Amino acid sequence: MKKDAIVVIGAGAAGLMAAITAARAAPQVRVVAVDGAPRLGAKILIAGGGRCNVTHHVVTERDFHGSTPAAIRRVLRAFDVEAARRFFEAEGVPLKRESTGKLFPVSDRAQDVLQALLGAARRAGVELLHPYKVTAIRPDDVGGFEVDGPKGREAPAAATGTVTGGPAGLGASAVILAPGGRSVPKTGSDGSGYAMVSNLGLPLTPRIFPALVPLRLPDGHLVRALSGLATDVRLIVVSSSGRHLASVTGALLCTHQGVSGPAVLDVSRHWQAAMDDDAQSGVLVNWLPDVVAEDLDRRFQNHGARPIRRALAPPLPDRLADALCALAGVDPDEPGATLTRDARKRLVAVCTAWRLPVVGTRGFEVAEVTAGGVPLSALTAGLEARNRPGLFVCGELCDVDGRIGGFNFQWAWASGTVAGRAAAARVAAGTMEPVSG
Ligand SMILES: Cc1cc2nc3c(=O)[nH]c(=O)nc-3n(C[C@H](O)[C@H](O)[C@H](O)COP(=O)(O)OP(=O)(O)OC[C@H]3O[C@@H](n4cnc5c(N)ncnc54)[C@H](O)[C@@H]3O)c2cc1C
Repeated sequence: MKKDAIVVIGAGAAGLMAAITAARAAPQVRVVAVDGAPRLGAKILIAGGGRCNVTHHVVTERDFHGSTPAAIRRVLRAFDVEAARRFFEAEGVPLKRESTGKLFPVSDRAQDVLQALLGAARRAGVELLHPYKVTAIRPDDVGGFEVDGPKGREAPAAATGTVTGGPAGLGASAVILAPGGRSVPKTGSDGSGYAMVSNLGLPLTPRIFPALVPLRLPDGHLVRALSGLATDVRLIVVSSSGRHLASVTGALLCTHQGVSGPAVLDVSRHWQAAMDDDAQSGVLVNWLPDVVAEDLDRRFQNHGARPIRRALAPPLPDRLADALCALAGVDPDEPGATLTRDARKRLVAVCTAWRLPVVGTRGFEVAEVTAGGVPLSALTAGLEARNRPGLFVCGELCDVDGRIGGFNFQWAWASGTVAGRAAAARVAAGTMEPVSG
């Protein structure tokens, strides 16, 4: 039987955008988006603290890690920030730019972003099957795919008339994989996409790990007792030989389990990657990112009769200044003038290059994104599997992870658009010949 449907697996940010794009580009082609989560769009709803940081005012390939910058750039250029802004504006959700450069809906409601996507999908004629958890995808013998759903669950009547397939499955001439990664699995992205990818013969990066994730410190550590305190720092990931591997400046938040905040989230993927290569690598904290170590030493030397904590606070909060003195083995009430050279050096080191005693990350349960996935080198410019024509990949399943600030959604919008456009062209042309690119 001839199949003329595109089945999108996963109706999150990337999947919805892919489905909308495909349905708009080829209205004659049936587009079905399926999602297994109990709640549709859960990740969009929790994003940005319920406000959804939709994108960032400037997005380039340098804001991402994973696959090569050139491959990432090509996707980003196909649907840029202005295109995202226009899309949401046209769907009744204008965006506003905040001082950080992040773009949010003017309404500050993530719910409006989700409703805009669902409304656009409905108007474009996308059929949404939900909850419908895909358990396997099998190539059929006519160049298409069989998509297996929940056992004993028939493809709903709305779809069966137009989407071919067995009683518990869907038939498709093209499949767009958008099941996300492993982060916050209770939202539906439980990592099941990786097995589908592997079964279909696509490569995955050797490492798939949580990114944008808080770091844990040992039980009872002094910094955990500072829970709630936030300050600007510079974090530097260093190898065992002291080589600087990555550096991030921004806010650090002390939590009851360790550290979080934008700078920590951004550095976490570098820490994890460094640790996987070299267990002796680590993260150094400069608690005074605007101060050079030599200047701080001079400041301590010239501090006279005043307690040494006053050389740190302000600008640091008192509690932090005392904690840093404790870490250096220095009495915060000791006058600067009586500090020994050794004590002074220890305090300078703690303030400007303190090794954060990280014992791990908080894992996929709370990570905002997953690093690793399908390398873009395995996909054409249309994000179609080079070794499996008709199979497209987009969103977080790709080996692309962005820094904090709206970049991951921009990747979802852009890659969803590219995959949707290419899948529509593939099915509308009615050919399953491999394409170059
Ligand atoms: C707490 C939090 C806050 C965030 N805030 C922001 C932010 O403000 N800005 C930003 O840019 N990024 C943010 N992110 C990251 C962003 O949400 C993700 O990068 C983005 O949602 C990825 O989109 P995706 O469509 O690829 O995957 P997902 O959004 O994870 O969607 C995948 C969908 O596929 C479905 N699925 C999975 N497996 C199957 C299966 N077998 N069968 C059927 N369906 C399946 C899932 O149910 C899910 O709905 C945040 C992430 C988290 C966790």
